[in-house]
Amino acid sequence: MMGKLFSSLSCLLTPYKPHPYHVQWFLTGKCNYRCRTCQIWSQPQTRELTVEEVKRGIDILHAMGVVDLVFTGGNPLLRGDIAEILKYAHPKFPLVTIYDNGSLASKKLDILRHADRVCISLHSLNPALQNAIAGVPNAFREAMQSILLLKKKGLGVVVAVTVAGNNIHEVPALIEYFGEREIPVILALYSDLSSEDSLVKIGTPDPCSQFHDGESLRKFFQSLRELKRRYPVHLDFKTLEALEAFFSEGRRNWQCQALSSFFMVNELGWVSGCHVMPPVCRLGELPSLWGSEKFAELRENCKLCEKCLYLCYVAYSHIRRARNLAEYLWDYKRYMWERFLLTLSSEKG
Ligand code: SF4
Ligand code: SF4
Repeated sequence: MMGKLFSSLSCLLTPYKPHPYHVQWFLTGKCNYRCRTCQIWSQPQTRELTVEEVKRGIDILHAMGVVDLVFTGGNPLLRGDIAEILKYAHPKFPLVTIYDNGSLASKKLDILRHADRVCISLHSLNPALQNAIAGVPNAFREAMQSILLLKKKGLGVVVAVTVAGNNIHEVPALIEYFGEREIPVILALYSDLSSEDSLVKIGTPDPCSQFHDGESLRKFFQSLRELKRRYPVHLDFKTLEALEAFFSEGRRNWQCQALSSFFMVNELGWVSGCHVMPPVCRLGELPSLWGSEKFAELRENCKLCEKCLYLCYVAYSHIRRARNLAEYLWDYKRYMWERFLLTLSSEKG
């Protein structure tokens, strides 16, 4: 607890400018699922960083003042040393998140106590659709089991939903279903953006996942505003506003802050602004390059880039100083505080 408090304060004192707030670390390329919108599972296996190399990387991110560290993959729970990695990282960052496709979390509860959030991917309440999206027969059953068990055991479980053409109509019902059970939902948006030089191959062309019109997306983001008032949805109002403007007026009210507010690391320790972009350096080189002219130039290129609408990248593109971060975190916890105040007032009444 003290470690967390100390890390929260110390990350605000980072000497690194701009302040990197958010990092996604693709710890492994291994995956036991076969999602139709992902190429990671079909890539030839490469070496992964050893646990000691990962720890050295964690120290670098800690020294840079990273606030929100996400371990993803592949499935990071397939790493035999994931317990050691999580235990090492947890006290060093205010927010440590790990992703699972639902297949392993229920079997690794003790390990997952060292994460602040465990995001379990589930895209539909229709078992046949969920299994088809994940490319394995029991995906729905396993994800539901993991989500409900983690909630029952008091872990910080979050349902991670990728909104796509084939499920957009049922995402509001999914938010309600989990919201009624006090389980938050975090959203991503399907895009087909993989290219030869992308650092991580997510986003495979899939006709079933394609959106057919911007209108359904505009209506969807409008409906989220109301849903967010009633249920815990991890999508902040600034991002929501940006998406509403984008889908109704076709304009971006933000500049991408890749390699400023956020970046990513792959399983071999290569760093890139986002998973669509090619690598720019090794993690070990990052502290000395962060303030360099080369990085200043790369940042300017990212600011001009309009390739993607990945929601966490849009959200962190709005976070450029500590005040923005405080607003974002307040928004993130707003639902919880509002419920708390409501309970207090109904008890008094
Ligand atoms: S999207 Fe995630 S769970 Fe699905 S195959 Fe890719 S890495 Fe595995
Ligand atoms: S807009 Fe930003 S996050 Fe998206 S592809 Fe371009 S550089 Fe990457």
